[in-house]
Amino acid sequence: MKPDNLLASVPVLDAHIDTLTKMLYFNEGKTVYGIPGGHVNLDRIRKGGVNVIFQVHWLRDRNSFYSPLQECFKQYRLMLRTVERYADRLAVTTSSREITAAHKAGKVALVPVIENGVVLEGNIDNLEILHRLGFREIGLVWQGRNEIGNGNFEKNPGVGGLSDFGIRVVREMNRLRMLVDVSHLNEDGFWDVAEHCEGPFIATHSNARELCRNNRNLWDDQIVALAEAGGVVGMNFAPHFVDDDPKKASLSRVVDHVCHIANLVGARHIGIGTDYDGTRRRRGPAALRGVPETGSRVAEAGPPTGDHGIVGELLRVFKQVCG
Ligand SMILES: [Zn+2]
Repeated sequence: MKPDNLLASVPVLDAHIDTLTKMLYFNEGKTVYGIPGGHVNLDRIRKGGVNVIFQVHWLRDRNSFYSPLQECFKQYRLMLRTVERYADRLAVTTSSREITAAHKAGKVALVPVIENGVVLEGNIDNLEILHRLGFREIGLVWQGRNEIGNGNFEKNPGVGGLSDFGIRVVREMNRLRMLVDVSHLNEDGFWDVAEHCEGPFIATHSNARELCRNNRNLWDDQIVALAEAGGVVGMNFAPHFVDDDPKKASLSRVVDHVCHIANLVGARHIGIGTDYDGTRRRRGPAALRGVPETGSRVAEAGPPTGDHGIVGELLRVFKQVCG
């Protein structure tokens, strides 16, 4: 199939965009999608040809002065109000059917997701409430330790994998049909998810560690395990995830990661999760254009393309897990 046809045939999905969190902090909570000087806004989404966004509600690691759940609700409220304001262009979607309907109506589908299981505040019952509110994916940890497990930056002695509570959270997410995101998990935690998660799990914004030694990128044996479970790795476009020398990061280098993973496990296990608006270390104007372009370049480069042309592979897993 020609790259253009391939891209036209499925919605283009970006599995990790942090714009909402930035809106809360930098737009004083105004219902304007995008921040001044940021990577993503409605115009760029349209020009970039992105149709589905996993809309991250990012939560910092816990300190005694903040309630992660309340913080999540603040972002959730802002998302709902922003979507109401741009009802002709945006829709909140929680199922494949709703994503397809939004796509047909020419709207960008926002799937509410959470980065940092600290949101549960140690109470597993909160999971079902969050699911009923429409959240469909949770990154179990961020940089440090929470009740579930440990992030890649946790240095405390005795750091290990998932806690008993963390394993219960994974099982409850399976029951509720929510996607488990391992992107920030330390290696022990990753292997615990591989053991305890039923069905596919995903890494929304991580690349191949073999090509770039960022400790958030995945080793080949992790990628193989994730693929064996049927999951997908979302390619991160932030320079320090793409090349050990961030100045050398480019779309071609992103394609190198795609080809590496495709050769390892096949392209059915590759998606896109740019991390746009999640880091300052990137020039803005090209934001999002690179998403479909990556799919197109990969198709041209010739490694086996997935059923959904890489840019939509996460939709396949979303449908399988969340319905
Ligand atoms: Zn992240």
